Amino acid sequence: MSSIEGKVAIVTGAASGIGREIARELARAGAAVAIADLNIDGANAVAAELVATGARAMGIAMDVTDEDAVNAGTATVVEAFGGLDVLVSNAGIQIVNPIEHYAYADWKKMLAIHLDGAFLTTRAALPHMYRAGADGRSRGGVVVYMGSVHSHQASPLKSAYVTAKHGLLGLSRTLAKEGAKHGVRSHVVCPGFVRTPLVDKQIPEQARELGISEDEVVSRIMLGNTVDGIFTTVEDVAQTVRFLVEFPTAALTGQSFVVSHGWHMQ
Ligand code: NAD
Repeated sequence: MSSIEGKVAIVTGAASGIGREIARELARAGAAVAIADLNIDGANAVAAELVATGARAMGIAMDVTDEDAVNAGTATVVEAFGGLDVLVSNAGIQIVNPIEHYAYADWKKMLAIHLDGAFLTTRAALPHMYRAGADGRSRGGVVVYMGSVHSHQASPLKSAYVTAKHGLLGLSRTLAKEGAKHGVRSHVVCPGFVRTPLVDKQIPEQARELGISEDEVVSRIMLGNTVDGIFTTVEDVAQTVRFLVEFPTAALTGQSFVVSHGWHMQ
């Protein structure tokens, strides 16, 4: 039996792509899963899919940049499922442009979703993980932030994304130190390119900006530095998150795990 059995998880941005597969994987492992997303129809559809398999799941309308929505959504999940053990802060978008043309509004939007969203969801989750049970010990928990190879490397056109994804390392490491005495562990998972809507949108945009073909964007920019020319999959990332959630001790905390077919080695 997985140690996740009976735990409660919130996964943000789980109506699509990587977050959706993480929600599926945690549900397969026996967790009750809240699918929190701006796209409530998508979130409800994922929840319905999981419920149909016998899992406990619910869709939650949540803009991770909205403090009230994050607090209220987290409280709703705790009320419905009786607590909170796992937060996967995954919601994200991409806006590519060279720095000199990067609109300030786009910069602020990127940092708000990736960094403010990570902070707000963490702050809302922690009181439930820190809360002491009848034995006087904290409930504990695991927080996983969706970083990227861009938590460690830079690429042209991605100033805000690279800045935000680097920033998550700082938040995660601070939480690893603060949360330890409450049994809370924290990690950043750092995928290479995964074929999701977020990446599909970038291919023509990068081709235009860089003056190369879409095939070259894929073969050179996205997969050129991997060891095997293969995209990382949503399953690869979800299994890594599951491993980190299941890992039993703080021997692993404050770490970043790169899942990238060797694109980035640390
Ligand atoms: P996706 O576009 O498939 O899914 C992103 C989800 O986030 C969508 O359901 C969207 O509605 C939701 N979302 C966007 N803004 C939100 C907000 N303000 N509040 C709540 N939900 C919001 O993208 P994906 O590729 O699955 O990306 C998920 C995460 O993985 C992102 O943080 C992204 O940066 C990261 N990532 C993706 C890749 C990749 O290659 N796809 C690589 C590394 C890291």
